[in-house]
Amino acid sequence: MKVLVAVKRVVDANVRVRVKADGSAVDIANVKLSMNPFDEISVEEAMRLKEAGAASEVVVVSCGVQACQETLRTAMATGADRAILVQTDAELQPLAVAKLLKALVDKEQPQLVMLGKQAIDDDANQVGQMLAALLGWPQATFASKVSVEAGKATVTREIDGGLETIEVDLPAVVTTDLRLNTPRYATLPNIMKAKKKPLDVVTPDALGVDIAPRLSTLKLAEPTKRAAGIRVADAADLVAKLKNVAHVI
Ligand code: AMP
Repeated sequence: MKVLVAVKRVVDANVRVRVKADGSAVDIANVKLSMNPFDEISVEEAMRLKEAGAASEVVVVSCGVQACQETLRTAMATGADRAILVQTDAELQPLAVAKLLKALVDKEQPQLVMLGKQAIDDDANQVGQMLAALLGWPQATFASKVSVEAGKATVTREIDGGLETIEVDLPAVVTTDLRLNTPRYATLPNIMKAKKKPLDVVTPDALGVDIAPRLSTLKLAEPTKRAAGIRVADAADLVAKLKNVAHVI
């Protein structure tokens, strides 16, 4: 079974996100960019499927600028066999990414496509669902457990107030949630080996995909700054402050 894993390069989860002064976009100048954390979980899960003998090849895919090659090399350093970059400097909205991934799925014919449940930069939570719809494939979103056997995937999903376990026929699209696994670190020898693994570069034009944006961002704003906390003397003081200063009781 071939597994295709989509990985996005995003502002590192530990970096404080800054909005450009004109409110048009997130400022990524001189900011550390890393693999979307949910995508690290997808790569790890694909590797576990391979180690368990359920998958034979893991192909990682990213859509974006040339520097996404670094993200793909990181994925290969944790075990992925090869990589494909759909290279473009243009803005990519979720529908465009889903169409690009669909074109690659048509070419690569994987039996399982894994994506993160959401990218932590746009928080769209759309690409996996759109891809499944474009392919006409079953989807299992927010996976916290995945097993594959006899042409079917059994997926435990994180839903409001609990867990739901579903079975989908392969080929299928699975999106991963936080509690699915803990991704491994790349070792130095594997980082060196990853430099030699195959990385193909294609363009949206070569895939025949129209990536024109359908949405325009009107404005981005940072959350309002929180006021500093204060220390209260005792419970009576706390109640008085909640009543007279914060006006919440
Ligand atoms: P989103 O719907 O934008 O929140 O993204 C959900 C998932 O789609 C991510 O976790 C990635 O697996 C995948 N994805 C989104 N954008 C890209 C991209 N530019 N390249 C590769 N995968 C992507």
